[in-house]
Amino acid sequence: MSNKVILIVLDGLNYPVARDCMGYLNGLLEQQRATLYSIQCELPSMSRPLYECILTGVRPVDSGIVNNHIVRLSNHQSIFSLAKQQGKTTAAAAYHWVSELYNRAPYDAVRDRFTHDESLNIQHGCFYHWDHYPDEALFLDAEHLRLTHQPDFLLVHPMNIDDLGHKYGVDSRQYRNSARHADIILSHYIDGWLAADYQVIVTSDHGMNNDLSHGGILPEEREVPMFVIGNQFSHHSADTQKPIEVKQTEICGLICQLLNLEHNKPYTPELLAL
Ligand SMILES: [Zn+2]
Repeated sequence: MSNKVILIVLDGLNYPVARDCMGYLNGLLEQQRATLYSIQCELPSMSRPLYECILTGVRPVDSGIVNNHIVRLSNHQSIFSLAKQQGKTTAAAAYHWVSELYNRAPYDAVRDRFTHDESLNIQHGCFYHWDHYPDEALFLDAEHLRLTHQPDFLLVHPMNIDDLGHKYGVDSRQYRNSARHADIILSHYIDGWLAADYQVIVTSDHGMNNDLSHGGILPEEREVPMFVIGNQFSHHSADTQKPIEVKQTEICGLICQLLNLEHNKPYTPELLAL
């Protein structure tokens, strides 16, 4: 088995808002074309530590990326590094902290915003450093990378949901509407991605609270969604008699399996079709 994978990390999206507000993804769920799992994010419930967790499978307390202000390369093998070493093509349209973790730190916008270098872990990148960079633009950046470079692994990482959560809180129309907006954008792309033989995962790093922040253990900060879409997933539902418990540290290994990479990352075999 060898597949291509698109990982979408909708920054700051919590589980209840994903479940209630994203009508297109829910339409796929109703037709059994997607499955939604609930994940407790690792701690602290902050962005940079959890980018590292999602992309390497290593918890913040073990990776050393324990807050947003640690600006250095990751010390661990990531989906990007494993894929590049094994001859795959990697790409990301993502916040600049992702470039700092896997390509070069600190980020230099003039040098790094548009990256094309086969020797880097993320070979094709479009990185941004504005929290209000429009999600529409970010998805267009990602689609441009996909159509131009046909990456085996593509990370798509928009920031508007998190940005509006920091401005208005988790219990706000602005936060919920930003999730609805991301759902509409996704509806433009997902059919085309599936037709191009990508497996698609939509998840989040952490949730949001009503103090316009996140970082702790409140359920609204910690419970995040993981939608899986594609024919290589088992689509065993999370609410059958034996619910499958998915850990955020296992997303990396799941994607490595899908990409047919040699790796030693943990993953949940039950999530994959036989
Ligand atoms: Zn945030």
